[in-house]
Order: sequence, then structure tokens, then C-alpha cells
Amino acid sequence: MKIIAIGRNYIDHAKEFNNPVPKEPVFFMMPETALLRNNHPFFYPDFSTDIHYEVEIVIRLNRLGKNIATEFAHRYYSEIGLGIDFTARDLQKNCKEKGLPWEMAKSFDGAAPISKFLPLEKIGDINNINFRLELNGNIVQQGNPKDMIFPIDQLIAYVSKFTTLKIGDLLFTGTPAGVGPVKIGDRLTAYIEDEKMLDFVIK
Ligand code: ZN
Repeated sequence: MKIIAIGRNYIDHAKEFNNPVPKEPVFFMMPETALLRNNHPFFYPDFSTDIHYEVEIVIRLNRLGKNIATEFAHRYYSEIGLGIDFTARDLQKNCKEKGLPWEMAKSFDGAAPISKFLPLEKIGDINNINFRLELNGNIVQQGNPKDMIFPIDQLIAYVSKFTTLKIGDLLFTGTPAGVGPVKIGDRLTAYIEDEKMLDFVIK
């Protein structure tokens, strides 16, 4: 399986980094070894001193597809979860300044904690659900797919033009504003509406 992650999909987040609002989705890949499951602790890596959280809605693909049309994209998933797209912001900044790919800042082991998945029937309208991230009990990020620049079905259509989507592939759909650093000892909890999806510590 592979993990596809979308960058800059909420206007308020693009603005907080002074990035232009994209005209097409931006995506990158993470390897399976980036996944962190079952609320296992995240171990702060020694190659960075500026790890940031980014909470994101995650879609799990349940069908094989290539060149999927937007109007049929909803047939390719039936479950939704939350994930954190941990970013080594110092490494990313360094790579960006040199005009280099910044994959190393996103794809390291444990960079992608992932929640359980909820069936869509339980969710209702996937394009209008509230999710949030709490750092040590304080809300730091709040989002709703209705504020996405590119809605979920459009993301699936776009990505599948370039890469075949397979059963079990995960799509991280971008983060809203409010990203920030974590430190050892912090606790992150994330919710879809009132359902606790993630609860783990930084070690
Ligand atoms: Zn992200």
C-alpha cells in the first residue's frame, strides 16, 4: 500500500506559510513504514529539532482505480479516519531553500500516526464534518472538509490521473491552519465530531 498526502488544501493554512493558493492539488507520497498505529507513542527523531503536527482527514481506498472521474470517486472509499502528518519543519525549510525535494521531512518512520476508521454511514455528509486536534487538552487545529480548496472526490480524481490507486491506499487530505511544534512529553488527541480518534504521547 501507499500513502498519498495532499499539501495546501485549506486556504487558511496556505496563508499561514505565505504560500500561494494552488490552482491544482499538490501531492506527495509516504512509505508504509511512516505509519504509526494503535496510539503508539511517537518517538522524537534525533535528526530534527522542529517537528510539527498537522491533523488531517484520511480516506482509505477500497477499490482499484485509475483515471477516476470526480463524479464516481465516492465509490472508491467507504471509511474515514484521522491522521497526523508529522513534518520536520527544519529539514523541510532547508530543502525548500535549496530547491530540493523535501520528502525526508515527511516520510520518516512514525511520521504518519493513523486512527481507526469509521464507516461513512456513521458520518453522514463527508464534506461537512468537524474535526479537531488538541495539544495537552487545548484545541490547536479545527477543520471541516467544506473548507477544502479541492474536495475529497476531486483529490481522488486528480491523483488517479498520475498513479493507480489500490485497495488499502490511504489519502491524507491536507491540514487546516494552526500547525505547530511538539515536544517530548506532549499529548495529542484528535476527534471527529465527539468521537475520539487519536490519543498518544510524544516520547
Ligand atoms: Zn500535511
